[in-house]
Amino acid sequence: MLNETKKLAILGSTGSIGTQTLHIVKNNPHLFKVFLLSAHSNYMLLFEQAKEFTPKHVVINTLEGYEFLKKNLNKKNTKVSYGVSELSVLVAEKDISLVVNGVVGSAGLIPTIHAIKAKKNIALANKETLVVAGQLIMSLAKKHNVSILPIDSEHSAIFQCLVGEKNKNIHKLILTASGGPFLNVRKSDFKHITIQKALKHPNWEMGRKITIDSATLMNKGLEVIEAYWLFGVSFEKINVVIHPESIIHSLVEFCDGSTKAQMGVPEMTTPILYALGFPERIPHKTDTLDLTKIKNLSFFKPDIKKFPHLKLAYDVLKIGGTAPCALNAANEVCVEAFLNKKIKFIDMVKIIEKSLENFIFVAQPKLDDYLRVDNETRKVVNNLISKS
Ligand code: NDP
Ligand code: MG
Repeated sequence: MLNETKKLAILGSTGSIGTQTLHIVKNNPHLFKVFLLSAHSNYMLLFEQAKEFTPKHVVINTLEGYEFLKKNLNKKNTKVSYGVSELSVLVAEKDISLVVNGVVGSAGLIPTIHAIKAKKNIALANKETLVVAGQLIMSLAKKHNVSILPIDSEHSAIFQCLVGEKNKNIHKLILTASGGPFLNVRKSDFKHITIQKALKHPNWEMGRKITIDSATLMNKGLEVIEAYWLFGVSFEKINVVIHPESIIHSLVEFCDGSTKAQMGVPEMTTPILYALGFPERIPHKTDTLDLTKIKNLSFFKPDIKKFPHLKLAYDVLKIGGTAPCALNAANEVCVEAFLNKKIKFIDMVKIIEKSLENFIFVAQPKLDDYLRVDNETRKVVNNLISKS
């Protein structure tokens, strides 16, 4: 029901997804209240957010931030907690109606598991959680009767196309990709790519990690794995098409030859709104598509020789078990190393490939297996980086 107030826990509230979610809350105070906000280290922004939205709880991961917030926030309004273990307890609080996960990286996994076990529906932007442990997350969600509502624009598009449809009638899922800033750059020129160039996405403003992933097409690879778990179709049925205009956010082809697409201007507010309001739609004043002004919608096959990250994602998905977890850990470490100027753009894929030659494979992983593989892969990759 649209007039029911939902109490939100927003994990990663200081990031791109988190701040856009808070903007929606601000514009819809009759629909949403903030119960909990969490961030990693940006305590000053978390402080400002806490003053504005007066959540019952804030959680921060640094001691410096914890001390500051404890000293400066009004205790009567907001309780301050520290670290992932306290966050994992708080996400289970009975008052929370929806957990929005806007954390970047595999750090989003543990609180998501606790939220699902407490029967909280999850609005999920944090795709790495599904890449690392999709099998575990989806089986827990089923067991606890929890909905995982996608925020990622492609998955929101597919989710919207599937309303009223039966999964057995899906013939193909087609994820669109903008192609990123290097779509028309020759592979031989990739050695000259700088951090500044890689951080300039043509169509979307996002956090740094996903922006680099978009430049390598690893983001699309992670999204193929995310779609596999969210929609329960085999990997052969998941296709990627380059669509530089980012107008069609993804498509579903059905067994009778019909194809549905979801379209809109490229902005994250729409998919966030859809996840927050589901099954209702929340009215929102925004630019809409003027079809008469769209000169061209183009589509072509991704070049996996130029962007081997995408192929790596299909490879690990075929292997299954802990393979996607190892890929994700290797990628997270490489992206950070690139952003810290420790390795070049072209080194990332080489190091990831090397680390995947030998990782701990567990076919039916439990949480401990995922954590071990994540941890060990990070060590291997850091070692490869220090030798490069
Ligand atoms: P940002 O880097 O902008 O924000 C990340 C958020 O996570 C920040 O609040 C950050 O806190 C917090 N965070 C970082 N590290 C940790 C950690 N170790 N533990 C807990 N919290 C942490 O990322 P985005 O908002 O761009 O992306 C978030 C997720 O959403 C990613 O998985 C991304 O792939 C996905 N996504 C994002 C889209 C976008 O448009 N931005 C689109 C589709 C999906 P702090 O600020 O303190 O560092
Ligand atoms: Mg996306």
